[in-house]
Amino acid sequence: MKIIVTGGAGFIASHVVDAYVKAGHKVAVVDNLSHGLRKNVNPRAKFYNADIRYPKQLATIFKKERPQAANHHAALISVTQSVKEPRETFITNAEGTLNVVLALANSPAAGKKKFLFSSTGGAIYGNPKKLPADESTPPNPFSPYALAKEIAEKLIAYHAKSAGMDYLIFRYANVYGPRQQAVSGAGIFPIFTKLMRAGKQPTIFGNGRKTRDYVYVEDVAHANLLGLTRGKNTIINIATAQETSDREIFDAIAETLRFTKGPRFAPSRAGEVMRISMSYGRAKKILGWEPRYHFEEGARKAVLGIR
Ligand code: NAD
Repeated sequence: MKIIVTGGAGFIASHVVDAYVKAGHKVAVVDNLSHGLRKNVNPRAKFYNADIRYPKQLATIFKKERPQAANHHAALISVTQSVKEPRETFITNAEGTLNVVLALANSPAAGKKKFLFSSTGGAIYGNPKKLPADESTPPNPFSPYALAKEIAEKLIAYHAKSAGMDYLIFRYANVYGPRQQAVSGAGIFPIFTKLMRAGKQPTIFGNGRKTRDYVYVEDVAHANLLGLTRGKNTIINIATAQETSDREIFDAIAETLRFTKGPRFAPSRAGEVMRISMSYGRAKKILGWEPRYHFEEGARKAVLGIR
């Protein structure tokens, strides 16, 4: 297949591009390099330094490439930053998604087109009563970041249907692995890894009670590969159904780096959920997907692969 991957110079989508290229697909990456790195882009993929906020740029690329699928990962990813700058997050994450969906809808391609999207399970469900949360859990966004993802999901469902395209929305748990970079307080693995390498004590927010569901980036890339041909017009959690505390992350990174000091503790930050884990039964049923990495193995590979 010919696939356009937005955000393909960033952390998760660069692994998705690697998986697509390895499987023999043709890939063109669209990224404005605001957070991604050119060196993350697989050398066998085409690269366009372009911005999803500008529909004309997208129209030119999509008309030239004629992709059968778009895999949309470009976004502003910091929850904390979205609280400070909600308009920026809305324009990139909600409006930008609309621009990419319409670019695929309006581009010429043979056969039925498919739109794949990276939404967030870690943020969209808020603090659900029942854990692990499944896809029927009502969205309860605590941050402009989560709200923009919920709006983006609705834009995709509407516009894909009206253009006769298929879509698949992935709600990821917290993704971790090599190439992850911290931005405005987001990304516990790169933040803690870099501080410990510099001999500094990381701070655990939420006074140590905060938990997340951590899914390894290669497992996420595998879901994106399966999603090209399996499943349509639905929302699928990509998660492990395990809760891991910030303290456990601290300990795993400290062990890999032989860091001997303890953490500092501080209260929660605005917009953050306290506890989350998500079920992956639907991913198993529809995609035949399950997480393959155990946390210990993933954590070690992540720390060693963070630069
Ligand atoms: P990332 O910042 O590494 O990747 C995002 C990429 O988008 C970057 O390369 C950046 O340069 C690019 N980008 C940003 N604004 C752009 C614009 N206007 N035009 C073109 N490119 C632009 O982040 P990531 O962690 O790899 O996240 C990828 C996607 O997965 C995002 O949509 C994010 O919301 C979603 N997601 C991530 C996680 C996680 O735990 N990391 C969890 C759930 C969902």
